[in-house]
Amino acid sequence: MDSTSLPNRPTPARGGARLRIAIAGAGLLGRLLALQLARAGHDVEVFDPAADSAARGAAGWTAAGMLSPVAELESADDQVFAMGLRSLVLWPQVLAGLPQPVDLNQRGSLLLAHRGDEGAASRVVDLVRGKAPAEHAPQALAASDLADLEPDLRGAPHAWLLPHEGQIDTVQAMAALAAGALAAGAQFHWGQAVDSVAARSVQSGGRRIDVDWVFDVRGTGARPQLPVRGVRGEILHLHAPGVRLSRPIRLLHPRHRVYIVPRAGDRVLVGASEIESEDLSPISLRSTVELLAAAHSVLPGLAEARVVHTETNLRPALPDNLPVLATEPGLTQINGLFRHGWLIAPALVEQALHALETSA
Ligand SMILES: Cc1cc2nc3c(=O)[nH]c(=O)nc-3n(C[C@H](O)[C@H](O)[C@H](O)COP(=O)(O)OP(=O)(O)OC[C@H]3O[C@@H](n4cnc5c(N)ncnc54)[C@H](O)[C@@H]3O)c2cc1C
Repeated sequence: MDSTSLPNRPTPARGGARLRIAIAGAGLLGRLLALQLARAGHDVEVFDPAADSAARGAAGWTAAGMLSPVAELESADDQVFAMGLRSLVLWPQVLAGLPQPVDLNQRGSLLLAHRGDEGAASRVVDLVRGKAPAEHAPQALAASDLADLEPDLRGAPHAWLLPHEGQIDTVQAMAALAAGALAAGAQFHWGQAVDSVAARSVQSGGRRIDVDWVFDVRGTGARPQLPVRGVRGEILHLHAPGVRLSRPIRLLHPRHRVYIVPRAGDRVLVGASEIESEDLSPISLRSTVELLAAAHSVLPGLAEARVVHTETNLRPALPDNLPVLATEPGLTQINGLFRHGWLIAPALVEQALHALETSA
């Protein structure tokens, strides 16, 4: 690895050695690691089969970017909850100083339920209340409170505010993280897959590259070294001028998990299916009908919105649907972020860097 061509970098924190680091995967985790490691003064090389930094293969691009530690307690554990809260603190620090702006909304999120769906809704709300500390518990809203917060919402008489949740614009963030890492001195090798990883080396394109430390963050590409699978998710992008929505909405529905997420430029995202399949073909008619009908039922102003884009991708998941961070000397593997990548990545990366500092 030629470090002479790299820009001036700070001395690594706490007087530690400047390490040569290879990162396998330039998705959400790979970009965030590259940024933080290069900012910390290490020599970082990132390998990814994608054609360039804007090629949208990684799941990170497709994600709605809901930062929902409380609502996700329905399916996640205490560890994901704690990392989600920590990441809400870390995101503003990560984004500070990036060369491109990233929308980060921390105005909370809403849970909504239709009349007749009280059973499904109270199961989730009670479950979350039982798991979350009191200050994070869902706050029931009267109709007038809901109208003050989100005047365009209709048709869902049951509403709860989760005041400490948020959302991030994932497309802006993927671009800005790569640009920030590059500016901090990381090198990206696009079009270059890593075939296998080991402590202190990666195999790529038939050659072995020796380094001081390897981070394996290949998502579903980490097979067969990790038992990861892809879980299909489908999402729709709408252009909806005139529709007012200032925070993410989650509809508590007996059959579908539906969320509606506002984005800059009058965009609204509606997602997302969760299907045990690695089929990457376009969104199905059934998912389109179910997701859009549910969204329209609470936000009737969407009737004249235009469907401008649809996307399908795979969430990397391990058999227990929980994340793993495994460190041995010379190798860190992070995977299984499933539906929680944006929610927990900064906290996981913080833990990984701490483990690197103490064992490198
Ligand atoms: C529809 C949908 C909605 C979602 N919504 C949310 C949400 O609202 N909130 C949330 O927190 N999370 C959400 N997620 C989940 C989130 O996107 C993932 O958890 C996250 O992207 C995982 O990050 P990662 O870096 O592990 O994997 P990825 O982002 O998939 O990146 C993996 C990278 O590894 C690269 N790679 C693969 N094979 C190789 C190889 N052999 N060598 C080198 N590189 C390789 C890939 O090209 C890719 O760039 C959603 C996901 C989907 C699909």
